[in-house]
Amino acid sequence: MTEHSADLVLLGGGSGGYATALRAAELGRSVVVVEKDKLGGTCLHRGCVPTKALLHAAEVMDHVRDAAAVGVNAAVEGVDVTRLTAYREGIVAKKYAGLTALLTSRGITVVAGEGRLTADGDVRVGDDLYRGTDVVLATGSAPRTIGAAPVGRRILTSEEALTLDEVPARVVILGGGVIGVEFASLWRSFGAEVTVVEALDRLLPTEDDAVSKALARAFRKRGIASRLGARVVTTEQSDDAVTVTLDDGSALTADRLLVAVGRRPLTEGIGLDEAGVATESGFVTTDADGRTTVPHVWAVGDIVPGLQLAHRAFQQGIRVAEVIAGQAGPAVAESTTPRVTYSRPEAASVGLTEAQAREAHGDRVSVYEYNLAGNAKSEIIGTAGMVKVVRETDGPILGVHLVGDRVGELITEGQLAVGWEAHPEDIAPFVHAHPTQSEALGEAFLALAGKPLHAV
Ligand code: NAD
Repeated sequence: MTEHSADLVLLGGGSGGYATALRAAELGRSVVVVEKDKLGGTCLHRGCVPTKALLHAAEVMDHVRDAAAVGVNAAVEGVDVTRLTAYREGIVAKKYAGLTALLTSRGITVVAGEGRLTADGDVRVGDDLYRGTDVVLATGSAPRTIGAAPVGRRILTSEEALTLDEVPARVVILGGGVIGVEFASLWRSFGAEVTVVEALDRLLPTEDDAVSKALARAFRKRGIASRLGARVVTTEQSDDAVTVTLDDGSALTADRLLVAVGRRPLTEGIGLDEAGVATESGFVTTDADGRTTVPHVWAVGDIVPGLQLAHRAFQQGIRVAEVIAGQAGPAVAESTTPRVTYSRPEAASVGLTEAQAREAHGDRVSVYEYNLAGNAKSEIIGTAGMVKVVRETDGPILGVHLVGDRVGELITEGQLAVGWEAHPEDIAPFVHAHPTQSEALGEAFLALAGKPLHAV
């Protein structure tokens, strides 16, 4: 057995792990990252990046399909899956090469192999033992599946869906959360007949009610069917079809069934019990700064309860590296972490929904909703949607909720408003460029400050 030592040993080189490594190296620490697959993890190889490449191709297809409406002659001839795959893989390969070079340039050692925590809190990889003054767990998550829909010939998770070598003609999607909605959107753009089956009574059920409503309206217009408040009882797959029976006795037949019912933390078999790291329902228990129940063992990313988002993992990684280095600073706040669903239209939000705000502040909540129909730029690019701002009455902005094409790029302003606890009156004097979609947000702030311009 060979022993190695470093200031920091990381288990997992995905978004949380590599962000911790980069920040720790910047702070002068020696860092070892143990990774069994590829640096970049789910987000770069099987999640955020490749799915957004597919969604961009889907958007191009929609634009070509709608070109005549703006006086451009063009026609959709179909999807060339080989070239679509090359485009998607090319993006990932470039980002992967860049990330690998970045870690190398910061002097970070990457060890290829499967690591496991020992009873002493070290990390064993095959015959090698890595002793870290601190160890950070960042092993990520994997798609959750359900017994009634076993993954197989016709039943997929997002991982298989991503690399599918065809556009299915008919799909059923189980789960109307972020993944379900994004795949529904892209497959519909590519011409598929899509039905989303969601157990709760609305799409994107964790978002503000107004977001779910606006998205549902847009999806209906796009011909995407939804079965809300429905559960799958059984599935049957053959060589060329899958039949899904719902709890009301109805059945749906499709070429593929996508199961998108959440992601489970990857914490089995990594030695947590031996090391005494406490977990709850598979998630690692931590304090607000990422400390586990074992001194000098930390956790970041999807294995920590809360929003399973790459950018939250980045921030947690930065935070853990800084806390280890003795730096002060605020804990990572879920309340200012933006959430974006990259469907068509997009949904983006930060902070409290109206319902959460009312739970926290009772009647002292004011809300303004601005319809994108009043926004020139949205009209020009042909998107419907809305902006909703939630504030404490006479107090700060608590939440910002957006639906519409391209609104994911607008959420940053909402994030600053919520993060800095700004009042609409503070923002009202700042003009928004005309014509931009950001003006819609400006209109909502103006209205909440009591001086609506284009709004009533
Ligand atoms: P999710 O938790 O967002 O949504 C799962 C949905 O499935 C929920 O609405 C739930 O009510 C429903 N559901 C659960 N069991 C069901 C059943 N048996 N029948 C019908 N519906 C059922 O999970 P997801 O969409 O799988 O995404 C997983 C994670 O990955 C999320 O945390 C998400 O935030 C993250 N993610 C984020 C992005 C992004 O930020 N754009 C993209 C992809 C994934």
